[in-house]
Amino acid sequence: MNPLLSIKQFPDYEKIKPEHAVAAIKTLCADSKQAIEHLLDNEPANWTTYERLQAIDDTLSKAWSPVSHLHAVMNTDAWRQAYQACQPIISQYAAEMSQHTGLHRFYCALRDSDAFDQYDEARKKLVNDAIRDFRLSGVNLDDDKKAKYQQLMQKAAELSTTFSNNVLDATQAFHWHSSDATELAGIPDSAKALFKQLAEQNGVKGYWITLDFPSYYPVLTYADNRQLRETLYYAYNTRASDQGPNAGEFDNTAVIEAIMAVRVELSALLGFDHYAALSLANKMADSSDEVIHFLTDLVNKSKPQAQKEYAELQAYAEKHLDLPDLQAWDIAYASEKLKQAEYAISQEQLRDYFPVPKVLDGLFDIVGRLFGVQFEANDNLTKWHKSVSSYTVKNSDGEDIAYFYTDLYARQGKNGGAWMNGAIDKISHAGHQQLPVAYLTCNFIPPVGDEVAYLSHDEVVTLFHEFGHGLHHMLTRVPYSAISGINGVEWDAVELPSQFMENFCFERQVLRSMSAHRHSGEQLPDELFDKLTAAKNYHSALQMLRQLEFSLFDMKVHAEYDTDHPCDVMAVLDEVRQQIAVIPSPDYVRFPMSFSHIFAGGYAAGYFSYKWAEVLSADAFSRFEEEGVYNKAVGRAFKREILERGASRTAMENFVAFRGREPDIAALLRHNGIVTESSV
Ligand code: ZN
Repeated sequence: MNPLLSIKQFPDYEKIKPEHAVAAIKTLCADSKQAIEHLLDNEPANWTTYERLQAIDDTLSKAWSPVSHLHAVMNTDAWRQAYQACQPIISQYAAEMSQHTGLHRFYCALRDSDAFDQYDEARKKLVNDAIRDFRLSGVNLDDDKKAKYQQLMQKAAELSTTFSNNVLDATQAFHWHSSDATELAGIPDSAKALFKQLAEQNGVKGYWITLDFPSYYPVLTYADNRQLRETLYYAYNTRASDQGPNAGEFDNTAVIEAIMAVRVELSALLGFDHYAALSLANKMADSSDEVIHFLTDLVNKSKPQAQKEYAELQAYAEKHLDLPDLQAWDIAYASEKLKQAEYAISQEQLRDYFPVPKVLDGLFDIVGRLFGVQFEANDNLTKWHKSVSSYTVKNSDGEDIAYFYTDLYARQGKNGGAWMNGAIDKISHAGHQQLPVAYLTCNFIPPVGDEVAYLSHDEVVTLFHEFGHGLHHMLTRVPYSAISGINGVEWDAVELPSQFMENFCFERQVLRSMSAHRHSGEQLPDELFDKLTAAKNYHSALQMLRQLEFSLFDMKVHAEYDTDHPCDVMAVLDEVRQQIAVIPSPDYVRFPMSFSHIFAGGYAAGYFSYKWAEVLSADAFSRFEEEGVYNKAVGRAFKREILERGASRTAMENFVAFRGREPDIAALLRHNGIVTESSV
C-alpha cells in the first residue's frame, strides 16, 4: 500500500519513500479530477458540495506536503528525482484547477445563490477570493491563451526548481579545508567544533568549512584571518553565477532571464502592465508606485543615520583593526568588533545562555500565557530524522487543537535557512474536524557530542519568528483550508505574526525565564540584558538599507521590464545601489543569482512584504507596550482578531479590529532606534 494515498492526520515518515511519490501523485491528481467533475455534474452549487470539493483537494495536498517537505530537508538524489518528476504533474493539476471553468461557474453560482446573504463573513470572503483568483488565473481567456497560460506556469515551476538546485549545488560545490588551527584564529569554539565534525564526515582531519550559513556566518563575523574571510565572501557572493570559484558551472544568469521572460508573458496575457501589477493584485499594497514610495520614504528616513553608522565603523576599523581600506568581507567582522567594544556583548557570549530545551520551555510559557494554549511533547508521531521532535497544542480545556514538528539543526542535504510550512490544514468536513499540523524548520548549529545545543540570541529570534508563523497556522479557527491559518492571507501581511513574536526576545522577563548558563546554570544577568537591548539597534539603519535595497531591486525588476525591455538584472541592481547603498561592494558580486526568495520562492515583486509587515507588527506590538507586555486581554485580542482569523477578513480589517486604527510607520522607526527630523 502506498503510504501517501490516504494520509489522515499524520504522514508516516518511516514508511514514505521517494519511490512512492510519483505513483501517488499521479493517481491522486487523476482521481481528484474525476471526483471534481462528478460533483460538478451531479450536485447542486451549495456549501455541502463546497466541503466535498475541499475534501478532494485536501487528500492531494496531504500527499504532496510530505513529498515537498522531505525534498527540502532530506535532499538526496532519490528525493530530488522524485520531486522533479512530481512537480510538473502537480503544477499542471494546479494550473488546470485554477482555470477550471466548471469550478469558476460553481463559485459564481454560490455567490449568486439566495443562501449567499446568510453566509458568515468567512464564507463570503472565501467565495469572492476564489472568483478573484480565477480571474487572475486567466479563466476568462480563450482556449488558445489558456493553453499558453498553463505552459507558462509549468515552465515557471521548472525554472524555479532549476534556480534553487543551482544555488544548492553551487553552495555544496565549495569547501575550504585546513589542518592548521591558527588559520581559524578568532572563530568561536562552537563553530570550530562544527568544522571539525564536517572534516570527520568528509573523511579528513582538521577543519572543513562550507558555504552553509552555520559555516559562512562565523567566518565572516569572527575570523581574524582576512584572507579566509575574503575567500569565503568571494565564493558565497558569486554562487550560481558567471563569477567566482565555480564560474559558469551553476550559472543562474540565463535562468533568471528565462524566468523574467515567462513572467512578462504571463502578466501581458492576463492584461497587466507588468509582473509587479499582477503580483500586487492580491496584496495589501495597491500599486508598484505605492510600494516604491513606501520604500523610498524609509530610505530617506534611514540613510542619514546609515551614513553616520558607516563612517563610525570606518574610523573604528582604521584606528583599532588596522583596516584603513574597509572591504565588503571586513564589514561583519569590524562591525562585530565595534559592537563588542561599545556594548561588550557578542552573539557567542550570549550563546552560552540559551540551551534549546530551556528556550523552547520559555517560548511555550509566554505563548501559553498570552494566548491560553499549552504545549506537550508528543512522542507517538513518526519522524523523518532522529533530531526531529513533535508536539501537541492544547486549548485551555485541554483539548487538542494542533500539532507540530521541529527540525532545528543544520545537516547535509537540508536546504538552508529557517521556515514554517503547513503540513496539514485545518478543515471541517461532514462533522469531522481535521486539526492543523505545522513543520518548523531551522538550521541551527547542531548539538556536539552529548551536550544539548545552544542558541545565539539571533537564533532565538529566528525560532520565535518561525513559531509566529506556526501559531498563525495552528491557532486558526477557520475550518476552510483556502482561508485558514496563513492560506489566503495577503503576502505583505503574512509576516505580521512572525515579526510580532520577535519582540518578546527583547523582554527581560522572557529572556530570563529561558536562559541557563552552560556552566553555572545562571539566568541571563541584568547587565547582559541591558547591553543586549542597547546593542539591538546597533547599525539598524545600515541593516534597514540592506533590506530596502533587496526590496527595491525586486520591485523595480518586476515593474520596469515588459515585453519591449529585456531584463538585465545587474543593471537594475546597480541603479538601486546608486540610490541607496552606503557600503561599497565588489564588482564581482552576483547576489541576484542566489536570491531564491524572488526567483524560486513566492516573493517576486513581494520582498517589500517584510518591511510592510514590520510596520504592522511593530505597530501591533506597541499596543502591548502601551497596555502591558503580558497583558492577557491584549494577548487574547491579538489571537482573536489576527491569529485565529486567517484570511476570513482582509489583513487591514484584522489589523484595525485589533489596533482600533490603520497602521502607522512611527513604531517601526522607534523600535529600530532610527531618529528622524520629525521625531526629534
Ligand atoms: Zn517569516
